[in-house]
Amino acid sequence: MTVAPPPETRRRRFAPRSWELWSLPKDLARYLLLAEVAAVLWTVTALLTETVTRSDLIRFGVLAALFAAFQQISPRIERMRIRMADSHQIDMTSVWTFAGVIALPSGLSALLALLIAVAMTVLRLRAGIHPYRQMFTAATVMLACLTGSAIVNVTSTHLAHLSGGLGGAGIVLLSLVAYTAVNTTMIAGAIFLAARPLPVRALFGTAEENGLEVATLCLGGMTGLTLVFTPWLSFLSIVPLVVLQRGALIKQLEVAATTDPKTGLLNAVAWRQIAQKEIARAARDRHTVALMIIDMDRFKAVNDTHGHLVGDAVLIAVAERLTAELRQYDSIGRFGGEEFVAILPEVDMATARAVSYRILARIRELEVFSPDAPLVPLGGFSASIGVALYPDNGADVESLLHVADSALYAAKSAGRDRVECVGLAN
Ligand code: GH3
Ligand code: MG
Ligand code: MG
Repeated sequence: MTVAPPPETRRRRFAPRSWELWSLPKDLARYLLLAEVAAVLWTVTALLTETVTRSDLIRFGVLAALFAAFQQISPRIERMRIRMADSHQIDMTSVWTFAGVIALPSGLSALLALLIAVAMTVLRLRAGIHPYRQMFTAATVMLACLTGSAIVNVTSTHLAHLSGGLGGAGIVLLSLVAYTAVNTTMIAGAIFLAARPLPVRALFGTAEENGLEVATLCLGGMTGLTLVFTPWLSFLSIVPLVVLQRGALIKQLEVAATTDPKTGLLNAVAWRQIAQKEIARAARDRHTVALMIIDMDRFKAVNDTHGHLVGDAVLIAVAERLTAELRQYDSIGRFGGEEFVAILPEVDMATARAVSYRILARIRELEVFSPDAPLVPLGGFSASIGVALYPDNGADVESLLHVADSALYAAKSAGRDRVECVGLAN
């Protein structure tokens, strides 16, 4: 798992003096450095103390060759995935690094991880990923490999116990868990130090990302075992890996096509489609549906006073509050700028109004932090909401949006920080 940079930081990557590294918070810089020093020291110690046989070197060569072959086979898909990633990104190289944990002595497995990380850095320079992030990623994977290897090697000398049996299987599984735990916690630690406070979801990635990582690791474990017991078949791993990678790309494309990148909410097109479906369903089942437009008050002033970064942080926080306040089957979108929309199936106007007031209360309580003064909370934000109801105020999304927008305008004219529900006195 690696961490991709936000797009706006991609331009500055080649000039070492302007690397983001120098402006990192001190505790984060220390953390990254500590990880790198630990990875190097542990690897060197392992390399100096372990016996490396000729077969180990051959296995090392085979895994490096398989990695290179896979990169040759699927560079286009990989490039697209790298370009599209905006948060956690599963690069699937753990299939080779974890295979190394199973099939190599620990020092060599960490060296393989380093080699792969260097190769990926070269491949990614063009995609604009900061070298210091790649260095940290390399360190986490090396430490994950060394920990995983320590478990494989704990009961006896390397590979001696992997000859079938339940114990051997247990050791491989335990090693996989340790590898994942080290990798995930170290990256979560860095994300936390870089941008606290963050919800747990942001620290550990989505279920899909983690599922892909686990699938890759399982394939890695099998590749490692194949390499030990039937080495000539180890190249077969490339086939499921390509299929896995394609599946991941399709999922990424799907998400990118429907998601607003800043807030993670639905984008306008996807929201409209879902809203249309909800209204069609309500027409069939004779339900009401509430449609809300939520517009931040005097947001231009927020940007002018605190800067665009703070403005963005407010929008992200508002998106989180909306998601928390609404039900799972309500669909929320970012319509543009500082304007959000929500569709609430099977809700009447009185309920929609109560929900809207709750949302306004949450927005009033919001606190965000400026990068210039990370300890001073900024607050005093508010929004206005216009609500329209299907079927009373319109028969389709467009007419409901139009009516809700007029209600919003009325809320703004009446002084902002309030809700205006069509046909309902305040
Ligand atoms: P009102 O209470 O009447 O809605 O006032 P307002 O300032 O919120 O309304 P206006 O439409 O004049 O300005 C919206 C501002 O929202 C303009 C722009 O600076 C800001 N904005 C739009 N999109 C973004 C964004 O993605 N990030 C940030 N930080 N600001 C944005
Ligand atoms: Mg506004
Ligand atoms: Mg607006």
